[in-house]
Amino acid sequence: MTLKSSGQLSQAYDAAIYDLDGVCYRGNEPIDHAGEAITAAVDSGQKAVYLTNNAARTPASIGEHLRSLDIPAQDSEVYTAAMAGAELATEHIPAGSKVLVIGGEGLVWALEQRGFTVVNSADDDPAAVVQGFHPTVGWQVMSEGALAINKGAVFIATNLDASLPQERGFMLGNGALVKAIEHATGVVPFATGKPLPKVFQQAAESISAVTPIAVGDRLNTDIRGAVAAGLDSLHVLTGVNDARDVALAVPEERPTYLAKNLLGLNEEHAAPSVTGNRAELGGEWAEVTDGTLSASNALNGASMDLYRCVVAACWIALDEGADRDSLFTQLAELQVN
Ligand SMILES: [Mg+2]
Repeated sequence: MTLKSSGQLSQAYDAAIYDLDGVCYRGNEPIDHAGEAITAAVDSGQKAVYLTNNAARTPASIGEHLRSLDIPAQDSEVYTAAMAGAELATEHIPAGSKVLVIGGEGLVWALEQRGFTVVNSADDDPAAVVQGFHPTVGWQVMSEGALAINKGAVFIATNLDASLPQERGFMLGNGALVKAIEHATGVVPFATGKPLPKVFQQAAESISAVTPIAVGDRLNTDIRGAVAAGLDSLHVLTGVNDARDVALAVPEERPTYLAKNLLGLNEEHAAPSVTGNRAELGGEWAEVTDGTLSASNALNGASMDLYRCVVAACWIALDEGADRDSLFTQLAELQVN
């Protein structure tokens, strides 16, 4: 992937598939410009769908949270990994089957929506065990799940995130808890959720999007999934991955467009022009020669144009075998103004 040029993204794509944490909000805190940028995009006619690996909450609860931050979200525009997990269950077990839930209200809601009967014990002979993160999940219900799987129930995971970023650091994600049951039973689950491309397609279909763009902060979920689904993507610097991470991204995790925040959705984007190892845009330039990065201006306080040049030059260099660790060190100061 290389950076592309485009007119206003909110005009060029009929829908935006938004990630939540790090894009629309940060934990319980709002993110600068998110509400105004999404409102402007929606007012200009772009559809929205909010795609999250969070299986704990219902679309109604997520919709309410977004609206409290002045983001004009409808509950029907939220697509969760729990919904993807329930969809996956319909492919493996008969309609109306009993399902044992290792998770919370978001997952129970999604399964009941699809007509499944939720049970709590392996003794109820569930046809499937569906696991999605909820902070109350513990040994007892996980053991019920293992018992049911050992008796032949299909094992389904809403997503496989190893970790869950929280204020104090990375806590256990659904994938880590799934691994415990996999370890105990020897059964590998059927799984969905980001970064698998199918959930991006399902989210797009849920709002009848034809040419959606994915918007995210994490390279290894949002952007990787978009690339795998064949979708263009916008990376924003308001969440987990910073400008240096973007410059060092592997080809499968490279976004199509770069922005500081969601205001970039309503802007035109110009890609650097590339000659050999040199990328130029708007009077700025960057190049990597014999492993050494040079640029038109200081990396600390870089303009968006310089940021795009640095990213383009680093991607070219990495593809030609430049030393990643050396570039990592040279990019220490990269900070977008
Ligand atoms: Mg995120």
